[in-house]
Amino acid sequence: MPAFLARAPAAPRDYAACSGCSLCLLVCPMWRGSHDPRLTPEGLAKGLQSGATVRELAAPIVACSLCGACDPVCPERIDLSGLIMDLRLRSANSLPPNSPQPAVIVELSARLHQAAGAAPAAGVVSRSAPVLLPGPELRADPALLARVQALLGLAVFDDDGADIALALELGVEIPQQRLHGFLDSLRGHTIVAADGLLLRQLRRWLPGSQRMGLGPALSTRAAVRSNLVPSDLYVIEPRAFHGDYERMVGYYDRLQRETGCSLSLDLQRIAIPAASSGLAQKLGLAAGDDVQAKWMLQGRKPARIVVESLADRAAFERVCDLPVVHLAELGEDPQMMQKFRHAFG
Ligand code: SF4
Ligand code: SF4
Repeated sequence: MPAFLARAPAAPRDYAACSGCSLCLLVCPMWRGSHDPRLTPEGLAKGLQSGATVRELAAPIVACSLCGACDPVCPERIDLSGLIMDLRLRSANSLPPNSPQPAVIVELSARLHQAAGAAPAAGVVSRSAPVLLPGPELRADPALLARVQALLGLAVFDDDGADIALALELGVEIPQQRLHGFLDSLRGHTIVAADGLLLRQLRRWLPGSQRMGLGPALSTRAAVRSNLVPSDLYVIEPRAFHGDYERMVGYYDRLQRETGCSLSLDLQRIAIPAASSGLAQKLGLAAGDDVQAKWMLQGRKPARIVVESLADRAAFERVCDLPVVHLAELGEDPQMMQKFRHAFG
């Protein structure tokens, strides 16, 4: 495993520190899509400073994609995406007791409580072995999951915390027993997690642990890295990137220097997710769109798009005719990749 795995995060500050500098607007997909000052991290922070209630701030709380792009740009080091996750939780908790809840939230809540009461799974992975937390999208593609495992040489952890990751996203209370059981089972392992939001929280919950995102884990493999070429557009999974920005920016700088590929990091497109969507879309209450994927391609002519996240692969496949491949697929067929490099490199 590479040496950029662990460091304690700096203590974040809260909304009271917002100076109104507006830098966060530059990177926020909510603002870019709406140009409504209420739909911004600054609008949220200023609303809270003025005593706005969670209900009055519902629009940005729901619209935020939790991409995390605002966190590294804030000069006051406010944990903006963490603030929005807390507000989501508070807004769910502030509903009157008999309010109708979307079915996905009811089901998830039941699943979390069931897992909290269940005995921990018998360990098939030894305590110090590195483990893979694939998440539901990768589990739904067994061939790709097998390829990831073969490239990384990692065992899949039975309990990959998918329910916890979804609860973080949707603002659902995680029973303490469930959370502690999950974290206890991970202690001592080096963790590779596909879900960037879960990885971001693991950095806080298990500060001394060795952990990394699926993208960096795969792109350090020679079989993968050697197949990245200058005509590729490499799309970073944004939540893992922004959640550990100080180290990850150096990692991706090196990747770009060594392979020549372009990255989804330039100017205001600071690794904003192609598949960005807010809570309403995740709950099926609003139509999704692929604005981010289209925007990332503006003014660019890559021969191929390489993604770390399967959600981004689906988004780019919807908006363009270019080949879109997951990183793990780069290491798949050396002969085919050799041909590709010859043709486009
Ligand atoms: S997490 Fe992303 S969408 Fe949400 S406020 Fe920050 S930049 Fe905007
Ligand atoms: S970047 Fe930070 S300090 Fe500046 S407006 Fe946004 S939240 Fe406030």
